[in-house]
Amino acid sequence: MDINERFSRNSVYAHNVIEEDNAVTEMVQQTGAKVIEANKGDPAAFFHTPKYMIDAYIRALRERKTFYSSPLGVPELRKAISSRYRRMYGLSAGPDEIIVTQGVSEALRFINAIFINQGDRAMLFKPCYPPYIPDLMMYGGRPVYAEYEEEHGWRADLDRVRRELQKQKRTPKYMLIANPNNPTGTVLGRKELSEMVGIANEFGMPLISDEIYDEIVYNGAKFTSLASVAEGVPYAILNGASKDYDATGFRIGYAVIPGQDRFSAEIRRRIGEMASTRLSPNTPAQYAVEQAIGNVKAHRNAVGLMVKKIAARVNACVDAISRSRHMSASRPEGAFYVLAKVDIGRLRVKDEKEFVSRLITEEHVRVARGSGFQAPPGYIRIVALAEKRVLEEAVRRIDSFCDRNLNNKR
Ligand code: PLP
Repeated sequence: MDINERFSRNSVYAHNVIEEDNAVTEMVQQTGAKVIEANKGDPAAFFHTPKYMIDAYIRALRERKTFYSSPLGVPELRKAISSRYRRMYGLSAGPDEIIVTQGVSEALRFINAIFINQGDRAMLFKPCYPPYIPDLMMYGGRPVYAEYEEEHGWRADLDRVRRELQKQKRTPKYMLIANPNNPTGTVLGRKELSEMVGIANEFGMPLISDEIYDEIVYNGAKFTSLASVAEGVPYAILNGASKDYDATGFRIGYAVIPGQDRFSAEIRRRIGEMASTRLSPNTPAQYAVEQAIGNVKAHRNAVGLMVKKIAARVNACVDAISRSRHMSASRPEGAFYVLAKVDIGRLRVKDEKEFVSRLITEEHVRVARGSGFQAPPGYIRIVALAEKRVLEEAVRRIDSFCDRNLNNKR
């Protein structure tokens, strides 16, 4: 029997580039070597999740909040999220316009499940967060890309986006943006965000804004939520506890889908149905996040301190790269990634995949290949969460790898 017949084709799409060198890394670690891991965007692996959140989680457990919650999330958390959006972005979205999910990851899956049929398209801006693509493809969808270009500060030429959309036989089912963006660290300004809303309206495309890094903004940038500029088309904002609240492992995210129009109500109803098949998000974690969102002062202190450290580390990494013999990078304004261009064409290396994999075995540094983010050729993504000296050491080792592998023939 052909073993492949027993499994779904979907599994071939469900792959995340960040995990692809796990086996190589484990092999290196088994020799006793310490690998600098700059591949996974997990703040909780570098900063302690704030104590008041841990206490709230423990309290929820002691109070036996260990039951299935409503599939849409506990009312207390949905109320806290509603208040957050009113307080921060002036949005009036009631608890019934909010659905709690197991991370933004699950919210994305629900969105693809309800929007995408075989052959449908969705508009993504590349470089982008890798799981957007397999998640879409699992439901039979295909991406239509708009491009962020480094020479334009990792921003898009929106007239080109319009022309791309005019070429499409059918309008993409949604347009998805990440703001701030992973992996470029771009923070969209109010004007360009409004223009994107204009395009979505012109083509009648619902908008999805992944704002998981909305409080991790620095270097003078100002964040604008889609909530502050959206009008017309239905939209959803995705966010959660993973990054701002430094609690990736809690697995709490949510979708805010405001609007009393029929379409928005139908999105909420269908996502609610999907959510009911997985019964409930993690209940004690929901209570902990309710406390975290509600405790504005404690959160402000915690996130303020974390963002200050992140900004210093990201900037130190970019500074080290600016002194490098083989790399260059634009300075991010949000999130905690540095997308660096490596002069791979001058090296005895086939492509980014080989570059990244050999960097682990030969220099004990782990980064992610930019091609996994749909970046142009020659990019790698460095997670700039480690301490300054570790990041500087990583850059030094990447440089020495490049020195050793220079193609002498050129
Ligand atoms: N969206 C973006 C842009 C991300 O970078 C990440 C994680 O790196 C996620 C979503 C995942 O979020 P969650 O932990 O809430 O599933």
